[in-house]
Amino acid sequence: MDIYTKEKRSEVMSKVRSKNTNPELIVRQLIYGMGYRYRLHVASLPGKPDIVMSKRRKIIEVRGCFWHAHEGCKHATLPKTRADFWATKIACNRERDKKNLDCLNESGWDVLIVWQCELKNLDILKSKLKKFIDSE
Ligand SMILES: [Zn+2]
Repeated sequence: MDIYTKEKRSEVMSKVRSKNTNPELIVRQLIYGMGYRYRLHVASLPGKPDIVMSKRRKIIEVRGCFWHAHEGCKHATLPKTRADFWATKIACNRERDKKNLDCLNESGWDVLIVWQCELKNLDILKSKLKKFIDSE
């Protein structure tokens, strides 16, 4: 038995979904709005990068501060309960991120990481994205 009514359930689920996809969507909209075009979640590249611009050899990755252990960020603090579990999971994510990044760099791709907390100031983020995309 579901503890929610049908309406409440879909409301809850849509909140969960938007919470997960929002940062990436916002970044995509910014880039698209500036007139750039890209491919999404390219499965043939390591780590299936979020935003790929093949001709420019650029990749933009949007990362959650918690799951990807953003260094020095207050959003990356481990919860006190089940701390071992979280620490292991996040250490593995981080290891995998680093490996993928090295691979991409060695193959001549430029990678920009956008952290979730950078979305607080979209003007700054926008100029950062533009600078990265336009750089040679
Ligand atoms: Zn952060």
